[in-house]
Amino acid sequence: MFCPECRSEYREGFTRCTDCDVDLVAELPALPAVDEAPRIVFTTSQPSEAALMKSVLEASGVEVFAFDEHQANITVPMATLLGDVKLAVSPEQEQLARDVLRDYQETAENDQKFGGLTAVDSLEDDDTDPDEANDR
Ligand SMILES: [Zn+2]
Repeated sequence: MFCPECRSEYREGFTRCTDCDVDLVAELPALPAVDEAPRIVFTTSQPSEAALMKSVLEASGVEVFAFDEHQANITVPMATLLGDVKLAVSPEQEQLARDVLRDYQETAENDQKFGGLTAVDSLEDDDTDPDEANDR
C-alpha cells in the first residue's frame, strides 16, 4: 500500500498514511505530468511591476497565480529559487499569457520611443526564459 501524498510505502494492514491523513492506495498514481504545473511567465523583483502585469494578464482573461517567496513553496517548487515575485499561469494559458506580455511590453517600448528617443528597432525580447529552451 502506498500513500498518494507522500508516496511512502506501507505494510499490509495499513489503510491510512499517518503523516498525511489520507487513504492509502494499492498503486501509486503516476506522478503529475510536468505539463500540469503552472508556468512562470513573468519574474520581477518589483512587486508593483508584478501587480501591473497581473492586472494586464487578467484583463486579457488569463488566470494568474502570483507567487512570492512566502507562498512559492506551496505550489511551485522552482519558484523558491529566487526571492523575486513571479507570475504563473496554467499551461493552457501559457502561450496566451506570453503573447499578452509581449504585446504589452512592445507597446510600452513604442510609447517610450515616441517620447522623443531615437527609435531603435529592438523588437527581440531579451527575456532569457529557461523554460523556453525546454519547449520543443
Ligand atoms: Zn503520506
